[in-house]
Amino acid sequence: MPAIVKLGKKAKAIAKTALAGKEKHYVSYVRRLERVKTDERVCAMTFDDGPMADPAAPDDGSGRGMTEILLDVMKKYGAHGTFDVVGFTGDNYPDEAGKVGTPLWGGTRFDHYPDFGRDTCGGALHQMELVKRMLREGHSLSNHGYRHIIFGKKPFVYGKRSSLGDIDKVLADQKALHDLILKETGCTVTMGRPPHYVDRIDKNLTSYDAYALMDYQYMAASYDGGGWLPSGESDEKKATQAEIDAMISVIRKKLDADPDFFRGQIIFQKDGYNMAKRTPVAYALEEQLRLLTEAGYRVVSVEELLEISPFADVGSDCPLFAKLKDLAKDHAVAYDDNTLRLDAVMTWGELAMLLAPKDVVTKERIETICRTGKQLTPYRAALAYCEKAGLIPAGSREDGAVTAVPDGFFDPVSGFRRYDVLAAYRKQ
Ligand SMILES: [Zn+2]
Repeated sequence: MPAIVKLGKKAKAIAKTALAGKEKHYVSYVRRLERVKTDERVCAMTFDDGPMADPAAPDDGSGRGMTEILLDVMKKYGAHGTFDVVGFTGDNYPDEAGKVGTPLWGGTRFDHYPDFGRDTCGGALHQMELVKRMLREGHSLSNHGYRHIIFGKKPFVYGKRSSLGDIDKVLADQKALHDLILKETGCTVTMGRPPHYVDRIDKNLTSYDAYALMDYQYMAASYDGGGWLPSGESDEKKATQAEIDAMISVIRKKLDADPDFFRGQIIFQKDGYNMAKRTPVAYALEEQLRLLTEAGYRVVSVEELLEISPFADVGSDCPLFAKLKDLAKDHAVAYDDNTLRLDAVMTWGELAMLLAPKDVVTKERIETICRTGKQLTPYRAALAYCEKAGLIPAGSREDGAVTAVPDGFFDPVSGFRRYDVLAAYRKQ
């Protein structure tokens, strides 16, 4: 494993441990989708950074491009994926190619897909036929940024990288790809995954704010399908085989230990080169799908997975399930980690998020932050709206427990757990 990746992973693990238990989650319009709760053997696969018309590496000699190979294999198994596509990285110059085997392999200041100097061989703009084929064959799309530029600064691994660093620039980049896909295919994208998972745009705004304005959910993943990390082998042939084997053996082991392991999980894969400019996924995907199918899994798109259950902690066995699923389409009912926490006490801030209109709250919040440069808790704008509209008592503390709900707005509320309030809420 390259030292920098090792170090990056270590730093991430330390940061994660330090944050565990302290990280505060808020009820949000944007939910981070990692996995969902379901009793069915069903999982989703996501493929980042494509489409890619260049052949697999090593070339399989079939004359097909990388994305075509993935689509052919998925078709054979009746599997649906979610392709987390980019638009065009050809505007990311001047730049210098980075060292192969490092995170900067595709470019020092920017990423280039499928490769440095080969930008027109990838991206939706120049490879729209591949995007159209994805949709024709039942796959979903997610917005991975038109130019795949990180939203905000990312010191350390991507310290040399240019970032967008401003919500207007993030939105312009997101919209460029969103509109291109809509115009060419008629498909309205509903999910996004930030390049390299960098969430912070600037000191006060994050990808969640951008996605709220885009009407997106945050498509994360719960399981790393591997293949992006180069094997330590110096012999090219051995290295390729080791990378393919690694992608298959982890799935086999997990299924052997617990056949239900992948239920509701979102698996991360690549539609492109790994850091060593190889594409083990082109050779490992078939065996991965064979193992999952044999274990009784359906591999579906994230959109299909969300139809089965949109939430991480509540599944179809909950009596309120149909109502919650419907509410979540246009109301903030779940936390940003995609849990509903139905047993928790409802707070005024959470009630305000349920009652206030999304457009007003989202715009007001972002405008206020941009104007004042101050941080604003996620509930502030919703509370202000609801207090002004007389929906909740003036001066309510956002983390204070709800003690009453507006007259005539609800069916009788039997208690003030989140479950009771959501159950009694009549959708407006
Ligand atoms: Zn990416």
